Amino acid sequence: MIHPTPRLRFAPSPTGSLHLGGARTAMYNWAAARALGGTFLLRIEDTDQARSTDASLQVILDGLRWLGIDWDEGPGTAGQYGPYFQMQRLELYRATADRLLASGHAYPCYCTPERLEQLREQQKAAKSSWIGYDGRCRDLTAAQRAAHEAQGLRANLRFRMPEARVIAVHDLIRGHVEVNTKELDDWVMLRPDGVPLYNFACVVDDIGMRITHVVRGEEHFLNGIKQRLLFEALDAECPVYAHIPLILNQKGGKLSKRDPGVKSVLEYRDEGFPAEAVFNYIALLGWGFAADRDVFTRDEMVAAFRIENVGKAGAKFDPEKLQWMCGEYIRRMPPAQLLDRARPWLPHVPAAAFTSHRAWLENAAASYQERVQLFGELGPKLGWLFADPVPDEAARKNLSKDPASRQWLAAWADVLAAGDLPPSWPHDRAGADDHVKLPSKKDQPEPACRFATPQRIEAECRAFVERLGVKFGSFVHPVRAALTGTDKGPGLFDVVFLLGKDACVRRLRAAAAG
Ligand code: GLU
Repeated sequence: MIHPTPRLRFAPSPTGSLHLGGARTAMYNWAAARALGGTFLLRIEDTDQARSTDASLQVILDGLRWLGIDWDEGPGTAGQYGPYFQMQRLELYRATADRLLASGHAYPCYCTPERLEQLREQQKAAKSSWIGYDGRCRDLTAAQRAAHEAQGLRANLRFRMPEARVIAVHDLIRGHVEVNTKELDDWVMLRPDGVPLYNFACVVDDIGMRITHVVRGEEHFLNGIKQRLLFEALDAECPVYAHIPLILNQKGGKLSKRDPGVKSVLEYRDEGFPAEAVFNYIALLGWGFAADRDVFTRDEMVAAFRIENVGKAGAKFDPEKLQWMCGEYIRRMPPAQLLDRARPWLPHVPAAAFTSHRAWLENAAASYQERVQLFGELGPKLGWLFADPVPDEAARKNLSKDPASRQWLAAWADVLAAGDLPPSWPHDRAGADDHVKLPSKKDQPEPACRFATPQRIEAECRAFVERLGVKFGSFVHPVRAALTGTDKGPGLFDVVFLLGKDACVRRLRAAAAG
């Protein structure tokens, strides 16, 4: 048999946010489709009308786009197997249901919700090992059916499961599994109003959309058995199934929204997590790129991805590793890119400054490249560059440790005032244009500049401290505290260079005055 073109799908229900689990399912389908040279489509399973919302649909689409998971067919793209919203496919479900009624694979069930509830309660009370439909309407005669109809009862359509048949399946991840159909009841396919339930709509669409491989969460494993029988009843070939294990929390339980560090995909976006880092991290929740390498691009993932290499054991979500991954991507980024992508989190920088003060801003971003993991951290960390800071506790301690430090601060302020530091924010345009882009590595030579660069500032500072006769360390801490209001941040000479003359002198003098 010629293998058909691989076609895979992500089939979310638009009833909430896009979370890690959903994003991972989408990604593995996407990566498998790309790896196999096939098609990836997005199908919206919106038959739960009470819970489906447009807002949720938007959040899912935006989340996928943000992660770079693009679809070939689905909402917003043409495709020959649409429509891709289940509520627009009701006629297909109706027609398929009629076929199954005619072939005897489906039957109308007139049991009321009250009766079904009662049945469940009785089964629970009797501690029955099995809870499910008891098949009361399975073999109604035509006359009995007509009598129910005459009473005005409206029927659900149920799938007639074969009794006690052992179904052997090969799941790409779980391997060979056998399930006895005794475990499964006759399930509802279609409600009286013509709206299908999940298993039925899913199979009609997987057939209609020519789906060849289904990758989804393991909570659907038993649904897969029900679906397989429906494919059989419809004389259609069942796709290859791969049920991926749960994502676990640090304690080994099922990951929940309330576990530390768990956010929806758009929350990660809005808090300034780099998309490619979140993508990379999610890819690792159940799959590995190489024993010695965790950081890889989308293209590298696609080249290496095989569904059958997804692990059988649940992967643990580790929020610290996710943050580390974000830091890795930020460190590897050119500073210009870091600055542009962090822009939404830099409200204190006027739009025009991204052009007029480009070199200065890139230097500022570069100075934090090793010190932030999220775009969202850059803004707060850079605050001292734009406004005189209120010293935090560590800074206050460093300022009050040695009473003599006030004199050094005042003396160094005088030295800087007489020197040729760059201008301070808000620079005049001419000053800003003179701000040269510093090299990214410390051992590279600094470019020529009409102002003192960090190297020269360092040389002059060391000479000054020597004249002063104090230990360099004891000098540096109060100075840093006076200039930045903290005890952390870039090297001191970068701080002085970025802050510029007026702000340095003003802050040193203010600290000296106490
Ligand atoms: N709408 C289902 C879900 O979100 C899809 C399951 C499937 O992929 O078949 O869980």
